[in-house]
Amino acid sequence: MFPLLVFTFRMDEAFLADIAETFLLESIELSNEPLAGHVALPLEAPDGSVLTQLQWIPPHPGNTLVRTASVPLAVGLIAFLAISGGVTVIARRNARKLEENEAEAVRIARTDVLTNLANRLALNEHVAALRKSGGTICLLVIDLNDFKSVNDKYGHSVGDELIVQFANTLCGVLREGMFAGRLGGDEFTILTEGQDAEEECLRLCDALRQETNAPFSIDGLSLPMNFALGYSIGDAAEMPKTELLRQADIAMYHAKQGRTKAAVKYDPSLEKDNIIEQRIIAELKDALETFEEFDVVYQPVVSTKTGRLNYAEALLRWQSAELGSVSPALFIPIAERTSLITEIGRFVTKRVFSDLRELPALQASINLSPVQLRSPEIVREIRGYAENAGNDPSRVTFEITETTLLQDEQAVLFITDALRDLGFKVALDDFGTGYSSIGYLRKIRFDELKEDKSFIEDIGTSETGENLLTSLAFLARALGLEIVAEVVETEEQLKLLTSLSYDMLQGYLLSEPISVSELSSLLVDRADWSGLLQTVDAA
Ligand code: C2E
Ligand code: CA
Ligand code: CA
Repeated sequence: MFPLLVFTFRMDEAFLADIAETFLLESIELSNEPLAGHVALPLEAPDGSVLTQLQWIPPHPGNTLVRTASVPLAVGLIAFLAISGGVTVIARRNARKLEENEAEAVRIARTDVLTNLANRLALNEHVAALRKSGGTICLLVIDLNDFKSVNDKYGHSVGDELIVQFANTLCGVLREGMFAGRLGGDEFTILTEGQDAEEECLRLCDALRQETNAPFSIDGLSLPMNFALGYSIGDAAEMPKTELLRQADIAMYHAKQGRTKAAVKYDPSLEKDNIIEQRIIAELKDALETFEEFDVVYQPVVSTKTGRLNYAEALLRWQSAELGSVSPALFIPIAERTSLITEIGRFVTKRVFSDLRELPALQASINLSPVQLRSPEIVREIRGYAENAGNDPSRVTFEITETTLLQDEQAVLFITDALRDLGFKVALDDFGTGYSSIGYLRKIRFDELKEDKSFIEDIGTSETGENLLTSLAFLARALGLEIVAEVVETEEQLKLLTSLSYDMLQGYLLSEPISVSELSSLLVDRADWSGLLQTVDAA
């Protein structure tokens, strides 16, 4: 009745190695016996009997990038097998299998391996879906107390078991259809919806405390189970995607600091309570009157091909008369929350364009904060600076972080296009920390990926970290993007990154951030790092 399509392929080691490489899997093999920690795809004969199983290690739970990539990977792998592999493939049955397997892959990518609860990706998607329908939601964050000391004292297997037992207890108090997830480490979440969302949430908190009154018993140990509870309520449709979670986290943090067992409800005053933050805001406002306490320094970004300066990243410095030198990692987030960043951002952009005019050989990058992106004026402003300064836009790269992308995809899409149409370049900064997908990277036209420092910090300590660096380099190449590694501090890191053909490197090993006059000397002397790159090559 139906046309029959038959493919044959020899599934030898080279073929499997090829699949593993193409889909960035650690290993993939054929085995009749189930292998520990593997997921399996049975290969069947025409009569339905299982010939053997194709098995591979699903992505490690800690690796967010691989986790998000695992759906396209698994789907791609299955599709690949459907086309080229297999023993005898009957098209119709295969299509059904494919659907089942795809659903399974989608499920795995959204499930926490240890507890079987939903993971952070699933939470984000769930909240995104609720934003469309609207209505009240209440998000509860639960963070275990002293979990780290359990891990340190009794080892990770006891720690893991504690997490599993807690997850089971959590599931025990849920009502049918409720969303519960593990956000990572010892942090859990529950989402309630509708008119009674808050009462329902408080009821769950009570039930959870009752169920954890008695200590947990693990490996003959008796472990008390304490945790901090924080929650926040809002209308799903009116809040940015991650806002509710941020608020619930703040509330939970207050519960933790107060060592209270009661669930703390988020209130904007919780943010204002922070004395240091208040102090910084006050001083920041003063400093913004004159801008005298601010300065812009530049950190060289070196091309591995030429060994020369590719561009320099502009980084803000604040030397406060009252507080001393304040790290941007501390004051930038505060400036973002209070919208003072708009002023600060303008100052940095203006300064960079003026330095570009003074130093015709300079190319520079500027960090853009999410708050700046939301301003309808931003593109017009930037065009204005560029025109006044008479600069060639291709000398400037704007850096947008992945977190920004996740908060506001539409704004990033719009700004990126607008900036690129003006001739500027755009880099995706701190790539790999959030949960961005390959889909975004295809949709939004970036020129460059700056990968998050955590990947580099893992070099020499974690094999997974190194595998990820390799995968990221492949990913960037496949997408036609240049890839930059930041915070390169050791020769070991430099060596690995050059061997992986990273396009550009930045970090203290090459140069710390320097003043504009030092940068000017570097440009005049045509500074050259090829000596350093070669020493490492030869080693
Ligand atoms: P970022 O954009 O990821 O900038 C890189 C940070 O890594 C800089 O920290 C830089 O000094 C630091 N770094 C570079 N090489 C090394 C290294 O080898 N080891 C270590 N440990 N650190 C290294 P910095 O200047 O403290 O800035 C922190 C963050 O503050 C920046 O992270 C950026 O997100 C933000 N920031 C700084 N200036 C601006 C600005 O003008 N505007 C905006 N919106 N954000 C800024
Ligand atoms: Ca940056
Ligand atoms: Ca960065």
